[in-house]
Amino acid sequence: MGEFDLIARYFRHPVRRAALGVGDDCALLRIASGHQLAVSSDMLVQGRHFLEGADPRDLGHKALAVNLSDLAACGAQPLAFTLALALPAADPLWLEPFAQGLLALARAHECELVGGDTTAGPLNICITVFGEVPAADGASQALLRSGARPGDDIYVSGTLGDARLALESLRGQWTLPSALLDVATRRLHQPTPRVALGMALRGLASAAIDISDGLLGDLGHVLEASGVGARVQLAAPGQLLACGGEALDACVPQSHQLACVLAGGDDYELAFTAAPGQRDAVAAAARTSATPVTRIGRIESEPDIRLLGALGEPLRGDWRSFDHFS
Ligand code: ADP
Ligand code: MG
Repeated sequence: MGEFDLIARYFRHPVRRAALGVGDDCALLRIASGHQLAVSSDMLVQGRHFLEGADPRDLGHKALAVNLSDLAACGAQPLAFTLALALPAADPLWLEPFAQGLLALARAHECELVGGDTTAGPLNICITVFGEVPAADGASQALLRSGARPGDDIYVSGTLGDARLALESLRGQWTLPSALLDVATRRLHQPTPRVALGMALRGLASAAIDISDGLLGDLGHVLEASGVGARVQLAAPGQLLACGGEALDACVPQSHQLACVLAGGDDYELAFTAAPGQRDAVAAAARTSATPVTRIGRIESEPDIRLLGALGEPLRGDWRSFDHFS
């Protein structure tokens, strides 16, 4: 199978929203008037973001999911994406499930594959997504990292730490009961981009970011961009885990659960801030987008993050530089 057959077979589809898709030198996108184009790229590299032999269907899903997560963090509606692919071989047994995983998520978000590039080389998947945000009279409704103000509430969507729990299980750090391992592994391999929540938070959240490198690190980017600090309080070490509870306590120390929640990475949830007067509106946005949201703290003017346990006791630990559980 040559390069052009491969593209035609797996990646060339009629487009509906775009003016021109795969097949010419450029794709052409239609942007609604009074909107801005939101653009983001993310790359998945074998050996760095996934291991050799990773399920191609999961890779297709995740490669697009991590990009859609960036659009979600901006409150942008997905429009289209391009796919730059380096492949060791044109293997239908890999390409077919990869395209299925990729395009199923694309269809779910009405985000069209409009172009890309294909070359031989070590497996590398680079996607650029395009979305749109209302910007009537130049006033952009995009959610930025820089808008958090002292007194704002801090929220996170969904659950945190499960992807890292799964990764450490695969690395042999601990053994999870199979029911928990299934939940955690799905979070690692098939993250859910919070696109509907991001759009529902337009005009409501003062700042937002998606959590790819861990809650504290990514919240830290918001604090830095906004020139503020935060206090974060958790009801229990495993509070934000989907897998948390007695069954997990029996096999993973709570300090490690906490490390996964605070600094695990690969979560693709949203962290965002909103004024306390918006609590009902945030709850309504969570409902309409069918996305659970938890309030975890407050923005303060004093820089840095103060981390508190259930009883308000300070929690100490060098979470940001946490990497392995050494
Ligand atoms: P050019 O040489 O002009 O860059 P290519 O020969 O690389 O064009 O690609 C031909 C067409 O196929 C272009 O429209 C390009 O966007 C598209 N394309 C190439 N690779 C991919 C891919 N992996 N996914 C989707 N479209 C692709
Ligand atoms: Mg090309």
